[in-house]
Amino acid sequence: MSFNTLGLSQALLKAISKKGYTTPSLIQQKAIPVILEQKDVLASAQTGTGKTAGFTLPMLQRLAETQKAKFRPIRALILTPTRELAAQVYTNVREYSAFLNLRSAVIFGGVNQKPQIETIRKGVDVLVATPGRLLDLQNQGVLSLKRVEIFVLDEADRMLDMGFLRDIERVIKLMPGQRQNLMFSATFSPDIKKLARGVLTNPVQVEV
Ligand code: AMP
Repeated sequence: MSFNTLGLSQALLKAISKKGYTTPSLIQQKAIPVILEQKDVLASAQTGTGKTAGFTLPMLQRLAETQKAKFRPIRALILTPTRELAAQVYTNVREYSAFLNLRSAVIFGGVNQKPQIETIRKGVDVLVATPGRLLDLQNQGVLSLKRVEIFVLDEADRMLDMGFLRDIERVIKLMPGQRQNLMFSATFSPDIKKLARGVLTNPVQVEV
């Protein structure tokens, strides 16, 4: 199995090879083609399975394929429970988009918001965020989620454990109804299934 058969563009294959990956992980083999077909995905995957590349690579490809305005609205939102995870996902987004004309940023709480605001004001295609800071900056009118096309909810079970359900519901109301949703969770409690029903439309289930 090689990355060449998954339908990814040359720019992404180049970034993958720069990272030194030779074989897609199981979650990547299963999720990438489905996400490229623009379907919603509910995936069970732990950290360490390569799930970040599993959603980031096809997400970047979709954004690059349909790039339009010079002005850059936020077209993809990745929500994570912690700032450590947000920073890690952002690093991945940066690396995988090295050969694409896409801009990304990360925002999280506990640090000065000014540099984050300045970056967002310049226009970003992909935003990685923790819920509190995202809603804070949205309330301040710094950012809009009205043009989001792809929404990723990463580590959804940890999100619920940390009490972010209300915030997630608020974020969802700020995005257009017509969008692609990708939800990742290590576990599937009844609460997670309920959240999935609220977030996803006819999801393809991917398990590893
Ligand atoms: P994740 O589960 O997304 O946190 O990824 C776990 C680790 O696996 C990260 O350090 C990735 O850089 C690495 N990784 C992801 N995909 C692959 C791959 N196809 N081959 C080798 N390493 C990978």
